[in-house]
Amino acid sequence: MLPTGDYRMDKSVRNIQMVDLISQYQKIKEEVDQKILEVVGSSRYIKGPYVETFEKNLAEYLGVKHVIGCANGTDALQVAMMALGLRPGDEVIVPGFTYVATAEVIALLGLTPIMVDVDPNTFNIDIRAMEQAITAQTRAIVPVHLFGQTARMDEILTCADKYGLYVIEDNAQAIGADFYSEIGLSGKTGTLGHVGCTSFFPSKNLGCYGDGGAMFTNDDEIAAKLKMVANHGQSRRYYHDVVGVNSRLDAIQAAVLDIKLRYLDQYSEARRNAATIYDKGFKDVAQLETPFRAKHSTHVFHQYVMKVKNGKRDELVNYLKEKGIPAMIYYPVPLDEQQAFRPYADRNSSMPVTKKLCEEVIALPMHTELDSDIQSYIISEVINFFNS
Ligand SMILES: *Cc1c(COP(=O)(O)O)cnc(C)c1O
Repeated sequence: MLPTGDYRMDKSVRNIQMVDLISQYQKIKEEVDQKILEVVGSSRYIKGPYVETFEKNLAEYLGVKHVIGCANGTDALQVAMMALGLRPGDEVIVPGFTYVATAEVIALLGLTPIMVDVDPNTFNIDIRAMEQAITAQTRAIVPVHLFGQTARMDEILTCADKYGLYVIEDNAQAIGADFYSEIGLSGKTGTLGHVGCTSFFPSKNLGCYGDGGAMFTNDDEIAAKLKMVANHGQSRRYYHDVVGVNSRLDAIQAAVLDIKLRYLDQYSEARRNAATIYDKGFKDVAQLETPFRAKHSTHVFHQYVMKVKNGKRDELVNYLKEKGIPAMIYYPVPLDEQQAFRPYADRNSSMPVTKKLCEEVIALPMHTELDSDIQSYIISEVINFFNS
C-alpha cells in the first residue's frame, strides 16, 4: 500500500520526509494521470508535440528565447560545455561548495575544474575568489544558484565580460527565482548567462517523475549548437557535423512538467512560507543561523539550510533522527577534497568558508506540502536539543 502522506491521522506515527512527492502528486493526480494516458495513446514518445509545448511554455515563463530539453541536469551542463566549444586544457571556474555534477562534467570533458570559495552568507560563488582564479586558460564560469537563491549575476557577468568568458548557470536548484540588481539587470535565474542548465529530477523545485533536464539561452546560434550536440551532433538527419551525445527529455516527462509548471509559483510560495515559519521558530536559538535572504534575489528554497554554530551539528542530526525527523547535510565534503578531484587539488585556492560550511550546515525537511503541525514538531525538537 502507498503511504498516504497524511501525518494528521495519527500524531504518534509521524512519517516526516525531507521531500513529500506523494502528497503533491495527489493534488494534481487527475490531470496528470489523464495527460500521461493521452501521451501513451498518442505514440509521440520522443520529441514531438508534448516536448515542444513544454519547451515553449517554460521559455515563456522564464522570459527566455530558447528552452531545449535534455535527459537530466548533468547532461545539460555537459552539452552546454560541448556546444560552447570548450576544449581539453580549458579552465572552468566552479564553486567548491556544490553538488558534484557541476565539476564532474568539466573533468569528464578533459577540461580543468578550478574550484573557488563561496560567500559565507549566500553559499554562492565568492566574486573576489572567482576573479582571482582567472588565468589565460580560463574559458568559463559556472555559478550555481545554490539551495534556491541566485548568485551575484551582475558581478559575475561584468567580470566574464571583462575577460571574455562564458557564463553557464547551474540552475538545478533555483528554477523560478528572480535576480535583481541596482545596475538594472534582472530576470529569472538561468536566463542571464550564456546558457542556463536545469534538472527536473523528482525532488527539484520543478521535478518530473523520472529524469529530465533543460538548457536555456537567448542566443540563436548557441541554441542551434545545443540542439545539435544533444542530438548526435546532427543539424540534418544523418548528417553529423560534430561529435555529439544522445540526450533527450521524453514526452511523458515533458507532459507532466507542463502541468507542474502551472503550479511552480505556488510551489515556490509554499516553500517560502515554510521557510518563514522555520525562521520565526528558530529566531531565539543563539546556536543557529537561519538562511540569509539576499537583497538581489528571491529565494525559492530548494533546501532550507541552517548553520549550527556550536560544533554540535552531527549530534543534532542524530537527535532529530531519533525523533523521526530526517535532516540532511548538503554538502559534507568540499569538492576539492573528494577523491575524484584530488588530481586537480593543487590548482585550487584555499577554501576556508567551504570547509567551515561542510561542518556547520544542516538541511531540514523542505517541500511544498509541509503543514504547520509537522513544522511545529520539528521546531520544538530542534529547540529541545539546544535546551537539553
Ligand atoms: C541536481 C543537480 C544537478 C544534476 O541534475 P541531474 O538531473 O541529477 O543530473 C546539477 N547541479 C546541481 C547543483 C544539482 O542540484
